Order: sequence, then C-alpha cells, then structure tokens
Amino acid sequence: MYFKPLEKLFSSQICCLTLLAGAFFGCAGVPSSQKPVVVIRAQMQMGTLVKITAVGRSESAAQAAAAAGFAEIRRLEELLSTWIPTSELSRVNAAAGGMPVPVSFDTLTVVRRAMEAAEMTGGGFNIAIGPAVDAWRVTEAQRIPMASELEALRPLVDLQSVHVDARGRTIYLEKAGMRIDVGGIGKGYAADQAAMAMQKAGAIAGVVALSGDIKTFGRLPGGKLFPFGIQHPRQEGAVLAWIDLQDEAISTAGDYERFFERDGVRYHHILDPLTLQPARACQSVTVIAKEGVWADGLDTGIFVMGPERGMELVEQLPDVEAIIVGHDGRVFVSSGLKARVRFPSNSDAKGHDQ
Ligand code: ADP
Ligand code: MG
Repeated sequence: MYFKPLEKLFSSQICCLTLLAGAFFGCAGVPSSQKPVVVIRAQMQMGTLVKITAVGRSESAAQAAAAAGFAEIRRLEELLSTWIPTSELSRVNAAAGGMPVPVSFDTLTVVRRAMEAAEMTGGGFNIAIGPAVDAWRVTEAQRIPMASELEALRPLVDLQSVHVDARGRTIYLEKAGMRIDVGGIGKGYAADQAAMAMQKAGAIAGVVALSGDIKTFGRLPGGKLFPFGIQHPRQEGAVLAWIDLQDEAISTAGDYERFFERDGVRYHHILDPLTLQPARACQSVTVIAKEGVWADGLDTGIFVMGPERGMELVEQLPDVEAIIVGHDGRVFVSSGLKARVRFPSNSDAKGHDQ
C-alpha cells in the first residue's frame, strides 16, 4: 500500500467545509435544550492527514466517537500498510511464490473488493501493480524506469495469479516477486469502517476524511447536507465544483498531487496496468458512492479507463456518480449529478460539460 508516513502532510484533494460547530445545532432527534456537540480532530495515519468530524449528544460522546474512528483506522493500517513489515499484506507479499497466508476478514474484504473493482473497470484497477509502483516511486526518486525494467515486471502484474480463498480466509500470490498494493482502495475502506466505529460509539453524524477519501454519515439540521469542494486539477487551491453529500462517500484520483515533470511530461502515481506507465487519459476522477471502498476503488480504475469508457461504466452502476476531467481539461458529469453539482461562477467547466 502506498501509505508512506508523513506523506501529503497538509494537502487535501477535497476540502470538507462542514467544520462549524454551530451549524449542527438542532440535529434531528436531539431535544433543542440539548445542543449536539461537534468535535473536529486531525491526526497523521495511513501516510496522510486524517480529519474526523464527530457530532455527539455530549462533548464526551463526540470525543469518544472521534477516538473510536482513529482507533479503527490505526487497526486497519496495521493490517494493510506495506510500510509496516509485520502487516498482513506485507506477509502476503513476502510469501509470494511460496504459500497461502491466513488473513483477517478486513484484509480479505479489501482484496475481494479490489478484485471486483478490477473486473468492473476492465482491468484498469489492478492491485497486482505493486512491483511497478515500486519501480516508479514517483515522488521520492523522480526516476523513470527503463522500458526493459518495466517489461521484466510485466508477468508479475497479473491478477490471475492472485488467489483469494474466501472460505479458508487466505491469500496466495502465485509468483515470486509479486506484490499487491491496496493504496488505490484501502483509504476508502478505512473511511467506511471508521464511520461505522464512530456510529457504534454513539456519533449522530460525522465525516471521516483520509485526505481525498471521504465518508459522511448523517446530515446538517434543517435538511442541509454536507458541502464539499472538488479540487481543480490544474488550478491549485481552486474549486472545480461544489457538491452536497448525505450518507455518501466521495473520492478523487488525480495526477496533480504526487507527480514530477521531465521534458514537459508529467509523471504521476496512477499507473496503467497495460503499459506500466502513468495513465494518460484523465487529469482527475471524482467518484461518489454509498461506500468509500467503491468510491476509492473506482476512481483509480476509471482514471485508467478514461472519460468515455469510464462514464459509460458509471452510468451503468446504481448509486455511483462521477465527475471526470479528461486529459484535455474537458469536464464530464454523470447524469445523476448534473442537477447536484454547482460550478463556481468564474469556471469554464460548465461550457465543456457533457
Ligand atoms: P491517493 O488517494 O493516495 O492518491 P488513489 O486512489 O488515487 O490514491 O490511488 C493511487 C494509488 O493506487 C497509487 O499510489 C498506487 O499505490 C496504487 N495504484 C496505482 N495505479 C494503480 C492501478 N492501476 N490499480 C490499482 N492501484 C493502483
Ligand atoms: Mg482510489
């Protein structure tokens, strides 16, 4: 997993704008004399800044819910991070070409969802991409691997050789040198699970944001939903579009956060499993789904597919919507979102909207 400690410290692909405690007063189900309390906390986890907003019936309930959310993310990081040598995923990778490794329900679920996302995106999403991700190490070394080096890795980026035994709860990588990397889906799963842990701990509403992978539950008083601004992929700090969410997740995959340029070419961290080169069809893909695991898994896969095929897929999936910015800056909005997104008044995005 691409969870490098302290990476992307204060960057965020999507800004959560629901941080005003007063905005939550009068939440449904809470007597007006008992104003809900909002707690906002942030911590570095999974190599990124995690921001949790917890709404509780009391200060202690909100604090407990936020703590439960962070504890859940920490627990999942210890299972899924490939930066932790003892994690389950690290042990699966270390045993590649050897034997099946017993894993927890969570690791099994993330990998199974990843296999489903691969199927849905026609192989655009591929967690066997690990060796190629390591070869690029885009932000650290800024190196461009030689074609022969990538060619040698190609047989390892092979989903057919990832064997998931759901009954026996094991994962087996058939070829020595294979490595699975859930960096393109794990944060979305973690956001879902943290939101669930917060609800169990008594939160009545909240937001879990692992940088650009965000899950919301509950809503603002008076029917108001959680508002989010989607980052413009080519104008730093500018919002491409606004969207309100209710009990939904939102996730963005973009080529603008972790990249370097050489001879006018942008090299970034989302790789096309066919070429093992940075995917070229999009600048950014934002997916909205009920669950973060789908929003995150699909944004990376659709980025590889490109706007046309990607939007075709989105239109077929119930409860999945997307805003895709193509390589040329054209903005594509799925039919279910057209009435929901708002573009800033100075934006040229509306003109390109398809
Ligand atoms: P982030 O929110 O960290 O930018 P993304 O959802 O955009 O994450 O996924 C990017 C990460 O997914 C990469 O850092 C890498 O670990 C992994 N990855 C890169 N290309 C692919 C791919 N084609 N399929 C699956 N995972 C990928
Ligand atoms: Mg993703």
